[in-house]
Amino acid sequence: MRDDLTAVLVTEEQIRERLAAMAKQIEADYAGRDLLLVGVLRGAVMVMADLARHLDRHVEMDWMAISSYGSGTTSSGVVRILKDLDTDITGRHVLLVEDIIDTGLTLSWLVRNLSSRNPASVDLCTLLRKPEAQRMAVEVSYVGFDIPNEFVVGYGLDYGERYRNLRCIGTLAPAVYTSDTRGEHGPSADR
Ligand code: IMP
Repeated sequence: MRDDLTAVLVTEEQIRERLAAMAKQIEADYAGRDLLLVGVLRGAVMVMADLARHLDRHVEMDWMAISSYGSGTTSSGVVRILKDLDTDITGRHVLLVEDIIDTGLTLSWLVRNLSSRNPASVDLCTLLRKPEAQRMAVEVSYVGFDIPNEFVVGYGLDYGERYRNLRCIGTLAPAVYTSDTRGEHGPSADR
């Protein structure tokens, strides 16, 4: 699987160290307040699992599954909820945990949706952020790494549902795309 990568952008070690540092900051910022981590399936599974285990405090976790419509690797910001939260977030402090923010369209929609449920607060945490996301109206409180505008896989991020289980984050070799002539493994609409 590693042979399919042209470059490793973030190593397993770097992810671990950065998530530990982010967890420290989150512990300090939410001291004395309850905290509900909300992960977005399926990409955020790894970030959620590792970030939560770096937190030395009680947290609850819940999940949403959404489908963002777009062509290929671009997102349109039109979102459909496939699985909603099981938790009533009224009066709760919510931290949305994301794998990557690209255009930020999906996340802006999610923040609007969650904010309409009257939580005490909604903040954002993402492991990766691409350049375009910095123009987003919504502020991201915790960012792991700012990365270039390239399609990346690994640590939850997929290409046609593959590579999510890579321990690092990397860019795919062109051969992987070109050998996929039938589009069988193209970028998935489901996140
Ligand atoms: P946004 O609405 O453009 O911010 O789209 C964010 C979603 O698109 C992420 O949660 C991913 O599911 C997907 N995505 C964006 N960039 C990448 C990438 O480089 N690799 C894999 N998935 C990506």
